[in-house]
Amino acid sequence: MPTADEFKAGLRGQLLSPGDDGYDRARRLWNGMFDRRPALIARCAGAADVIRAVSFARDNRLVVAVRGGGHSFPGYSVCDGGLVIDLSAMKAIRVDLRTRTVRAQAGVKWIEFDHETQAFGLATTGGTDGDTGIAGLTLGGGLGWLSSKYGLTIDNLVSADVVTADGRLLTASATENQDLFWGLRGGSGNFGVVTSFEYQLHAVGPTILGGMVAYPLGRAKEVLRFYRHFAKAAPDDVTTYAAFVTPPGGETVAALFCCYCGPLAKGEEVIRPLRSLGSPVQDLLGPMPYVAQQRLFDGAFPAGSYYYAKAGSLADLTDEAIEVFAEYVATKPSPLSGVLVQTVCGAASRVASDATAFPHRRLPYAPVIVSQWLDAATSEKNVGWARDFWKALHPLAGGGVYVNDLSYDDADRVRTAYGANYERLAALKKAYDPDNLFRLNPNITPAG
Ligand SMILES: Cc1cc2nc3c(=O)[nH]c(=O)nc-3n(C[C@H](O)[C@H](O)[C@H](O)COP(=O)(O)OP(=O)(O)OC[C@H]3O[C@@H](n4cnc5c(N)ncnc54)[C@H](O)[C@@H]3O)c2cc1C
Repeated sequence: MPTADEFKAGLRGQLLSPGDDGYDRARRLWNGMFDRRPALIARCAGAADVIRAVSFARDNRLVVAVRGGGHSFPGYSVCDGGLVIDLSAMKAIRVDLRTRTVRAQAGVKWIEFDHETQAFGLATTGGTDGDTGIAGLTLGGGLGWLSSKYGLTIDNLVSADVVTADGRLLTASATENQDLFWGLRGGSGNFGVVTSFEYQLHAVGPTILGGMVAYPLGRAKEVLRFYRHFAKAAPDDVTTYAAFVTPPGGETVAALFCCYCGPLAKGEEVIRPLRSLGSPVQDLLGPMPYVAQQRLFDGAFPAGSYYYAKAGSLADLTDEAIEVFAEYVATKPSPLSGVLVQTVCGAASRVASDATAFPHRRLPYAPVIVSQWLDAATSEKNVGWARDFWKALHPLAGGGVYVNDLSYDDADRVRTAYGANYERLAALKKAYDPDNLFRLNPNITPAG
């Protein structure tokens, strides 16, 4: 069994421990709620380092955290003690124009991914915050501005290279290790460390119709009643979200966001209904670069704030549910907090629920309540608001939740996140990670 010194000498990347230069930076997460001190951080330079790191952790029975973009709510990507397998330096991206695919390493963030692919007028469904990692987002499913047109991120995953708990590097695709490929598409990091992803790309932009139109908070119910019909009835070319946000120094608004990626000449007519409520406080709908659409939320969720999220999926935005939204968004204790009502519509909703590990294809609304605050003394109040909001919404929810929007205290909702796919995932976990080496995630217990 190699010692830590031998492990360090065998890496192309760095091995950091407490006191080393860069250790504090490398253990910092986007969510300021977590201040964890790993024993070791392996800043991997490539797949060979990942293989060494997985084998070292397994042989020494270390707790393992796997870090992609470091942008998740529950903070699993850094551990106390143990080893962080940090992929954030693995940034290679190669677009293949012949096959319209891209291969991207696991440390890439969406802002970097979009930069490289939009150079060729190409894109795939990705996160709506440029600072989010492609790795964690893809492994949970991936909702974004192109979901209605091109499905979830996982629906565009062609293959992935994965280091499994036994230290092998496997390629998973529709033709190789198909069972693993199924589980990776929504199984959220339970089956190994993905070193790179290959995605299908599509012609998108560079100009799309997007942005938002905002109405006064007093019209929240009217906005949501409009949205429940529009989101589902809209053509696949348009993906819409409703959101309750407070612009810096301003009043909270009920906003409708959209991204229309079809022929521009037809787009104005498609998105015109978003303005039909009349007298908006702000109308920023219009043509814009796709990369600008992808950065609409940048700045709203800065690294280092305290964050806590509660989420669920809704089969319908009933009048009762709309009452709950209107009541709670009006009483949020922090102006930085907000609610995003994401959608699983169009192409994303037409994939069979058991075709990938992501099960909730028939629940069109995926609201996420995001508390954000700056003063640790107010944590209880801010966490409490999101919890109470969710408690009120829960009886009206559709029995699902997006696994990537779970919080650290949602362990009892992991089965809900995987739905009817849980047993198959548990069998897969037993096959690929029987000792649960990869357990800092929405964890699947290996089948007995
Ligand atoms: C502000 C904000 C906006 C968001 N917007 C969206 C959105 O538009 N659409 C959407 O679908 N989701 C969105 N999310 C949720 C997001 O998908 C998850 O937070 C995701 O886990 C972040 O991935 P990451 O790589 O940055 O995070 P990390 O914290 O690095 O990783 C999260 C977890 O994923 C696993 N993991 C990461 N990398 C690997 C790997 N290479 N191999 C194996 N396991 C790995 C680990 O279990 C890790 O704990 C958003 C989250 C936030 C906070």
